[in-house]
Amino acid sequence: GKPDPILKVDNIVRNFGGITAVDVDHLEVQRGIITALIGPNGAGKTTFFNLITGFDRPSSARQGAHWSFDGRTLDKTSASSVALAGMVRTFQLTKALNRMTVMDNMMLGARDQKGERLLNGPFWFTWKKQEAEVEAKAKDLLQRFSLLAKKDDFAGSLSGGQRKLLEMARALMSDPKMIMLDEPMAGVNPALTQSLLGHIQSLRDEGMTVLFVEHDMHMVRHISDWVVVMAEGRIISEGRADEVMADQAVVDAYLGAH
Ligand code: ATP
Repeated sequence: GKPDPILKVDNIVRNFGGITAVDVDHLEVQRGIITALIGPNGAGKTTFFNLITGFDRPSSARQGAHWSFDGRTLDKTSASSVALAGMVRTFQLTKALNRMTVMDNMMLGARDQKGERLLNGPFWFTWKKQEAEVEAKAKDLLQRFSLLAKKDDFAGSLSGGQRKLLEMARALMSDPKMIMLDEPMAGVNPALTQSLLGHIQSLRDEGMTVLFVEHDMHMVRHISDWVVVMAEGRIISEGRADEVMADQAVVDAYLGAH
């Protein structure tokens, strides 16, 4: 169909000392499809995720540096305003989150994404009124991801795949326009693989834009509508999965990294 970018990035650079982790001239993520961001270890994928979600800043003001999400310029925005604009990423469950129940993780997800201001000052009362509503929504999402029976269990007791589902469910608490998944298949046992892929595809079928970073080539081939390949901080190829995997530049980048 006609291109309809939800995310546009121009001239974004991040250096760590002498290493250029990210040096992207131009990248667009199209609305309503599943885009995979792949590349060898150290290619800059995580750094790129951090930059566009406001968890990290570009190194220097570069000529023509600009990025926007859904028509909104994001160059100088904080992580919470990025989330408010509708771009949300999953986070791996940390120690602290593992010691909380599944339900509390969901409630925290709502708070994280909507921003602290809902919990403070005049917004606090609004929040209290909304709490029941938010809780109902959390239960719906847990039901959808087959986690409702686990709602009072510690997140730390979940299997690898269930944790990935919880991370997704938590991110969805804020009704994002785009969900960004960092290695959704890492640590998922084969029994849950199909279910996880199915969930990601149904989100896309409902109109959600999905961007994920992944090492698992089976997953990349199976569900990506578009694949972007990064190496040494740059975008070296993009296209359909079979196209980029046949691209000599991509083959060379992977071989060179091992
Ligand atoms: P992987 O697939 O292994 O997760 P990646 O594609 O996500 O790799 P990044 O983690 O973004 O790659 O790393 C890109 C480069 O930047 C690497 O050379 C890495 O060592 C370097 N780098 C990333 N974060 C930092 C940091 N905080 N300090 C110093 N160097 C960093």
